[in-house]
Order: sequence, then C-alpha cells, then structure tokens
Amino acid sequence: MELIHDIHLRKKEKAKPAISFEFFPPKTEEGENNLFQKTIPELLKLNPDYCSVTYGAGGTTRDKTLEIVEKIQKDFNLTAMSHLTCVNATVEEVRAVILDAQSRGIKNLLALRGDPPGGKGDFQATEGGMEYSYQLVQLIREIGGFSIGVAGFPEGHIACKEGKEVDWERLKKKIDCGADFVVTQLFFDNEDYFVFRDHLQKKLGVNCPLIPGVLPILNANQIKKFTELCGAEMPKALVEKLDKMADDPQGVKEFGIEYATQQCRELLDSGVPGFHFYTLNKSYSTEKIMKNLSLA
Ligand SMILES: Cc1cc2nc3c(=O)[nH]c(=O)nc-3n(C[C@H](O)[C@H](O)[C@H](O)COP(=O)(O)OP(=O)(O)OC[C@H]3O[C@@H](n4cnc5c(N)ncnc54)[C@H](O)[C@@H]3O)c2cc1C
Repeated sequence: MELIHDIHLRKKEKAKPAISFEFFPPKTEEGENNLFQKTIPELLKLNPDYCSVTYGAGGTTRDKTLEIVEKIQKDFNLTAMSHLTCVNATVEEVRAVILDAQSRGIKNLLALRGDPPGGKGDFQATEGGMEYSYQLVQLIREIGGFSIGVAGFPEGHIACKEGKEVDWERLKKKIDCGADFVVTQLFFDNEDYFVFRDHLQKKLGVNCPLIPGVLPILNANQIKKFTELCGAEMPKALVEKLDKMADDPQGVKEFGIEYATQQCRELLDSGVPGFHFYTLNKSYSTEKIMKNLSLA
C-alpha cells in the first residue's frame, strides 16, 4: 500500500487530481454488507487513488475503523487511511492504536482532535490525553512510518472564536509538525476555499496539497443538520432551493449531484490537487459526479 504523500506526488506529476472516498464504520451487519458488497465494489470501478474510514467516539466503532481499513486494503487492494482522534483517550492509549494500525499494514492516518461526544459543548481533553490535533501529528511522527493528513476549515473552525485567520495559523502549525496534506471540511461556496487557499499559500507559505472535501447533498434535512454541527454556511439560494423541493427526495438527490458537479468543475479549473468525497457509504451520487466530470 502506498503513502498518500507519494500518491499526491505521482498525481501531481501527471497533472491529474487524486481522488479519495470517505466511508464510516457501519453499525449493523446489513450496513456492513452494503459497504463491502455494493458501495465499495461500485466505487472501485471509478478507479480511486485511496479511501478513508472515519473514527468514532465509542470503543467498538474505534476497533471497527482499523478492521475496516485493513479489510479494504487486503480485499480490494486499495490504499486506505484511518482517521484517528484524541477523544476519550490518553496519549498511551492513542499510541497503542497507532502501533496497532502499523501492525495491520496501515500507512496513512488522518490526525484529528475529534468533537466533544454528542457533538455539543466544549472539547475537554482526557487526563493524560491530548488537547489539539497538532499533538497527535507530533506523536505519529515520533512513531514514524506514516503519511499524515489533517483537517482544514475554509470557513474557520466552528469553535475558533478568534476568527478564521487564527484558525488557519493553527492549521499551519499542524503542517509544520509533520502533516503531509490537508482535507477540508465540506463547503458550498468555492470562494471560501479560494480565500483559504490563497491565505495559506501566499501569506503563510504552505505548499502541501489542500484537498477539497465534497459532500453531495443527499437529503435536505440531513444537510441542514450537518452544516449546523460543523458550522459550514449554506448559501441562501441553496437553502431556498432545498426548501422548495421539500416533498421531492429524489429531486434533492439529483440537484445535489448537479450542485456538486458545478462546484467541482470550478475547483478543477482552479487547479485543485484532488477531491475527497464524503460518500456516507453510498455510491450513487459520487459515481454520477465523477462521470459528469469525466474523472471516472
Ligand atoms: C476531513 C475531516 C474528517 C473528519 N473525520 C472525523 C472522524 O473520523 N471522527 C471524528 O470524531 N471527527 C472527525 N472530523 C471532525 C473533527 O474532529 C472536528 O472538526 C474537530 O472539532 C476538530 O478537529 P481538528 O483536528 O481540526 O482539531 P484541532 O486542529 O485540534 O483544532 C480544534 C480547535 O482548537 C483550536 N486550536 C488548535 N490548536 C490550538 C492551540 N495551539 N491553541 C488554542 N487553540 C487551538 C482550533 O482553532 C480549533 O478551533 C473530521 C473533520 C474533517 C474536516
């Protein structure tokens, strides 16, 4: 399996975008069958460069993440990255997870602080644990052998009251600690990404890949909930359009494909290094978008 750092270098040389798909560990056997027998095989036909698997707050989902990443690499021969957070764990416990990942042949980690359990309130570091993701980046680098990604927020992180430019300076610190690439939070206005990229590259001198995270809208209520939780803004026209389609779930899905296609097209024209699709373990919309963009 490749280091994602090397995948990005290879794609850059070929002037092609690197494509990744994000999955989450299913909670049921049915969900697992759907992921392994339907979603992944269908998305593999699009020839992605790598994929990633999210990391939950609870113990069982955590074990599942490494299991799923290992299974994807073994059964599908696709490089897979494990997300990893600092939630509810001491440094030693996180170190044990990193070593476990290493022993399973996992070479890529997305180093995150994680959200407070339930997604609400202030984040509290566990006693003997880490408070910020840059500390996790340092720990992974100290262990060695991994390519490391971190999260970036084109609109600034929701909890950063000092403003987005301060949040971006903290992102620069994560990169300086050893992160190889940044995957962004979802956003619906490309201008947010362009301002973020300009600031990081031109003002802060960052030159690692800043990969846009793209979430195809699947469901109007679900997207409103997601954006509320992560603080991403939905343009007024987008909200109005979704409100008008309240009784047409298939119409919302098709509109989501059209919106993401247009967004990605403009991002591609601006020279982005790739896309990270938040698939929500479904293949339909991502497949259509990739085909619309002739990336399949
Ligand atoms: C691509 C992507 C994938 C994700 N996957 C998962 C997942 O699998 N599981 C999960 O639980 N969550 C996931 N998240 C959500 C993520 O954990 C949350 O957004 C979390 O609130 C912040 O994580 P972070 O790594 O950016 O934290 P950090 O980089 O630690 O930043 C968190 C906050 O602390 C501030 N901060 C950072 N450094 C300092 C400092 N030195 N001093 C003061 N303040 C500081 C930042 O400005 C920010 O407000 C993901 C997010 C993204 C974008």
